[in-house]
Amino acid sequence: MKDCLFCKIVAGDVPGDVVHVTEGTVAFRDLNAQAPTHVLVVPRAHYANAAELAAGDPAVLAELVTSAAAVAAAEGYPDDYRLVLNTGAEAGQSVFHTHLHVLAGRPLAWPPG
Ligand code: 5GP
Repeated sequence: MKDCLFCKIVAGDVPGDVVHVTEGTVAFRDLNAQAPTHVLVVPRAHYANAAELAAGDPAVLAELVTSAAAVAAAEGYPDDYRLVLNTGAEAGQSVFHTHLHVLAGRPLAWPPG
């Protein structure tokens, strides 16, 4: 989609520190990391949020989760990581192309802020 930051990273038009790719997903490091490992896993196709992706292509939603697990394992945290899908501005979503946050490498408190 035109003017979508994450579509541009997927296309290679904006640089991204890509750590993992699959047929349907691309994973790259968050520019403003909140943990030693902070990676965003996105579908190659544009969906605004996780619910839209679930409705439009549930197999790729599953691929986001398996990619996230592969990233966490590759980073050395196969059993201890957090997955976050912010949906809507009030919930903290700032980029409206579905992205699964993978956070690991430090103790993560609950509830989140
Ligand atoms: P959200 O707040 O929408 O759940 O997450 C968006 C994430 O994208 C944020 O954690 C933010 O740091 C990250 N981000 C924003 N702009 C860029 C960018 O240009 N490159 C990368 N790699 N991450 C970005």
